[in-house]
Amino acid sequence: MDKGLCRGFNGFKTTHMIIFKQPLSLSKYLNSIKIPEKSIGFVPTMGALHQGHISLLEQSKREAGFTVCSIFINPTQFNDRKDFEKYPVNLEEDIYKIEASGTDILFIPDTTTLYPEGIENLEKYQLEYLETVLEGSFRPGHFQGVCQVMSRLLQIVRPNKLFMGQKDYQQSLVIQKLIKTMNVETQLIVSPTIRETSGLAMSSRNMRLSETERKNAGNIYQTLQYIKENLSSGELNTLKNQAKLLLIQNGFIVDYVEIADADTLVLLNEWSGHQQLVALVAVFIRDVRLIDNMLLNS
Ligand code: AMP
Repeated sequence: MDKGLCRGFNGFKTTHMIIFKQPLSLSKYLNSIKIPEKSIGFVPTMGALHQGHISLLEQSKREAGFTVCSIFINPTQFNDRKDFEKYPVNLEEDIYKIEASGTDILFIPDTTTLYPEGIENLEKYQLEYLETVLEGSFRPGHFQGVCQVMSRLLQIVRPNKLFMGQKDYQQSLVIQKLIKTMNVETQLIVSPTIRETSGLAMSSRNMRLSETERKNAGNIYQTLQYIKENLSSGELNTLKNQAKLLLIQNGFIVDYVEIADADTLVLLNEWSGHQQLVALVAVFIRDVRLIDNMLLNS
């Protein structure tokens, strides 16, 4: 990080990458430079990076060119204070990984610079149905927090392309809605979930699992596969209950196992055989909450 302090724009320069902490300095810098492809790619993260994040950065580099990554553990999206306090932090390693991916800019704001007005009584977004189901109902206020931070980040970075993971399926639908509401010229690109060899979706929260728990967590993916392989048109509740039982038998505490319309996230008890479907799961291993999903008929 101290390979040379770059003067004139309030950023730290490593060999290839500039690190900004102040929103104003970053947006001024982005306005001042000429980006050859006229294209800025953006990958927002909460740090503790794994290959899922890195693949988004590499995709941004390939498809957008100039790439901005942010690391910010957003307090307003944590409905559970303990989850926030235990969220893994790994900044030094993250910086090296991000730089190695060819990223041009890393933005590491703190809470007071992103929320100068404090984190209480913030703006509310009309997310309607999307925040009444699944993550929305099990984590009240979560998607309001996601929108509060993402609206700020999108205003600062003004990306042409925003890269996010299918791992957070419902979040990607919420962000698509936010982009529409904000009326900004940003294209959302949702990329496939990167998995460990056991099938477990990579997640910063996996760091909190023991080796045995991590191996067992591969059963979440196996359960999604089971749903995919046993899907047939007609009634869906039996399949959902079988999947839930499989998870319980493998030691998980289940928040939900659902099958929904992949575009609208409307939960389904029956399937005509035509709609595109997604299966979504949220479980706990001890106090570690994991989510995953799978498109069923693509
Ligand atoms: P997070 O740091 O968990 O907020 O994630 C930052 C971005 O990385 C989000 O767009 C996530 O959907 C995405 N992401 C997280 N895990 C994965 C994964 N296993 N594969 C692909 N993208 C992921």
